[in-house]
Amino acid sequence: MLRLENPDNVCYANAGTNALLSSPFVTRFLSSLPNNNVQLNTVRKLARIQPNQITNLTELWGIVAQNTNKDFNQDNRQQDVCEWIEDLQNTIETKLKGDLQKDFSDFFQMESTITYKCYRNHKSQIKEVNQMLRLPLMDEKENHLNSIDAILQDYFQEQRIERNCHTCDSVSALKSQKITTYPQVLVLQYKRFTREEYKIADQIICGTWLKLGTASYKLTGIVVHVGSSMRVGHYYAITCCWETGKAYKLNDAQFPKTLQDNELDEEIKNAYMLVFSKTNEEADVLSDMTIEDPTSPARKKNRQEKESMQSGDEDLLTPEYVPVRGRQRDPDESTSINEIGYAITSQESNFIELVK
Ligand SMILES: [Zn+2]
Repeated sequence: MLRLENPDNVCYANAGTNALLSSPFVTRFLSSLPNNNVQLNTVRKLARIQPNQITNLTELWGIVAQNTNKDFNQDNRQQDVCEWIEDLQNTIETKLKGDLQKDFSDFFQMESTITYKCYRNHKSQIKEVNQMLRLPLMDEKENHLNSIDAILQDYFQEQRIERNCHTCDSVSALKSQKITTYPQVLVLQYKRFTREEYKIADQIICGTWLKLGTASYKLTGIVVHVGSSMRVGHYYAITCCWETGKAYKLNDAQFPKTLQDNELDEEIKNAYMLVFSKTNEEADVLSDMTIEDPTSPARKKNRQEKESMQSGDEDLLTPEYVPVRGRQRDPDESTSINEIGYAITSQESNFIELVK
């Protein structure tokens, strides 16, 4: 919960940094970084700052600009908060070494297997890694989707696409996506800005809890954009306390405003970005972590467990694997498209469950 001065139109950086640091995983990690790198010390200092103390991102901003070779604010236009978050993540990542670097990037990485299947059932698979989910607000037929539930269902839905089969002459394929590794910190961006940079101001219903496949998430950060297009307007952030669930509006250096439930609901509906943190076993590991020692046994144990889980996941990536829950298909079994469609539909209905 940072109160950040805005000397030079940097509300995008203020809001983005607050949203990213709203995750207890990220803040604990950054505040426990070793004191051996000048640039990382800036990040470490920010993560350790007392609530309500006013500071600014001038130093951090310079480090990110230098690392990404970007001249932010060159033409005094509003920058995209999403771009700032990515640049900040990448900057921190490049300054880290070895296990710490891997730990940090692992927080955000969502790994999926994309399966393409032609009508003769020839399959090919690729692995996809995302640092954040960029979610369209309209479906294929340009219907507006007005809840996170509908948006995620649409995003993960099986779809027919143009694609040449590597074995036969088929030019179309069914594309399906299966998440194999869930991120600890789930960063969602609503694609509110059109190619012409105009804004889709739809209100999107979302709760403070989210279930994605087998993982449960709690909302910790929100970024709201005020204004009619990407290049004008203002950003602010809201953080929800991990322990109490209390929500605070953080608008540059203003005193944080406590939000009532109905006010929080309204802010969520107008959100541009949402940051969720994974609950359950990770939360236990988090409480074992000590601030001073980033190489504590709990962290090492967590890493080893994650690695062994990941190597286990590779079994799922063999071509025989068909992403249908609770049923392993014989690869030679002939499958009609209708049958696949049904299997996926029934899976999808269980797949995304929103807890309000
Ligand atoms: Zn084929």
